[in-house]
Amino acid sequence: MSRFLNEEYVALEAYTPGEQPRDKRYIKLNTNESPFPPSDGVLDALNVREVADLRLYPDPTCKVLREKLAAVFGCGAENVFVSNGSDDILNFAFMAFFSDGVLFPDISYGFYKVYAELHGVPHETVPLHEDFSIAVDDYVGKNKNVVIANPNAPTGLCLSRGEVERIVASNPDRVVLVDEAYVDFGGESAIPLVQKYDNLLVVRTFSKSGSLAGGRLGVAVGSAALISDLEKIKYSTNPYAINRLTLLAGERTVDDREYYAQNCRIIAGNRDYTASALRRLGFFVTESKANFVFAESPDIDGETLYKALRDRGILVRFFGKGRIRNFNRISIGTRADMDAFVEAVEEILAEHKKRTEES
Ligand code: PMP
Repeated sequence: MSRFLNEEYVALEAYTPGEQPRDKRYIKLNTNESPFPPSDGVLDALNVREVADLRLYPDPTCKVLREKLAAVFGCGAENVFVSNGSDDILNFAFMAFFSDGVLFPDISYGFYKVYAELHGVPHETVPLHEDFSIAVDDYVGKNKNVVIANPNAPTGLCLSRGEVERIVASNPDRVVLVDEAYVDFGGESAIPLVQKYDNLLVVRTFSKSGSLAGGRLGVAVGSAALISDLEKIKYSTNPYAINRLTLLAGERTVDDREYYAQNCRIIAGNRDYTASALRRLGFFVTESKANFVFAESPDIDGETLYKALRDRGILVRFFGKGRIRNFNRISIGTRADMDAFVEAVEEILAEHKKRTEES
C-alpha cells in the first residue's frame, strides 16, 4: 500500500477471484465458466476486419445489442442496460441505489460485501436457513434495499418467481436487485415482473451460459428510470465500457440462442449426473440449479480435497470458513471432465481412508 491511498480504502478487503493458473493445463472446475466455446456465429464475426476496426470507439449506447435483448426479454430497449460484465453492473447498482443500506444473505456472492464496503453502504447479512435456502420472510416488508442471487451462489438453490415477487412487492420504496448469473441452468427468471414493479432490477451475465467470461458482458433489466440511473453512472465513469469485439460477440450470442440453450441442457444433465455420483460417495450435495454443485464429504475436509484434486490437475473451489468450511463448489464441465473429477474423488477418498486407518 502506498502512503497516498485515500483513508476510506485503507481497510478495504478486495474480492479474491478464482485462480487462473497458467503453469499447466487443468480441468478447470473453479470459476463456473462454460466448457463450450462460443457459437460459430460468434467465432465467424470476430474476424480480421473487426480487429482492424478496433481503431474506432465502440457504440456507447450499445443500441443493436440492447434491441436484440429487449426482443428476447419481451420489454423495450429502454429497459435494458449493458456493461463490462455483471460485476460492473453490481458495482454501479451499489453506487447508485443503496446509500441508505442493503440486505443480502450471509452466504452468497462474496462481491456484494466488497461493493458495500467500497461505497460505504451500510449492509446487514441475513442468515440462510439451516438447509441453506434463502429465508424469504426475513426480507418481506422490511422497507430495505435487497440483493439476492437466484440461483444463489455457492449453494445453487433457487427461489420461485412468486417468492421473489413477495420480496419486491413488499419493499415498494426500495430497490430489489436479483442477480440471475446462473438462471439459465434451471432457475425461474424474475424478468417478467419488471413491467409490474419499478423497484426490481434483474442482473444477468454472458459469462456462464453465454460462454463469454473472457469477453466481459453483463446485462440489467428494469424500469426505464432505474436503467437511466445506471446509464448516468456509466456515462460518468466509462461510456465505452464494452469493447467492439465483445459487443459484436454479444449480438451474435443472442442470435444463436438455441445453441446456448442446448449447451445449458447438457450442463444441467452433467450437473445432475455429478451430484448423483457424489451422493453415492457419501457427500451431502445441495439441489443446485446452477452450473456447479456444492458438496461436503463426511470423510474429508474441503481444503484437503481441493489440494488433492489440484495435485491431480483438477481445480475446484473451497471456502474454508463458517458453516461452509468443509464444502467444495465444483463447476460443471463436459461429461469427460466430470468423469475425470469423480474418478479422482474416488481415488482421493480411498487413499485418505487408508491413511487415516494407518495412523
Ligand atoms: N454474480 C454472481 C452470483 C457470480 O457468481 C458472478 C461470477 N463470479 C458474477 C455475478 C459476475 O459475473 P461477470 O462479472 O463475469 O458477469
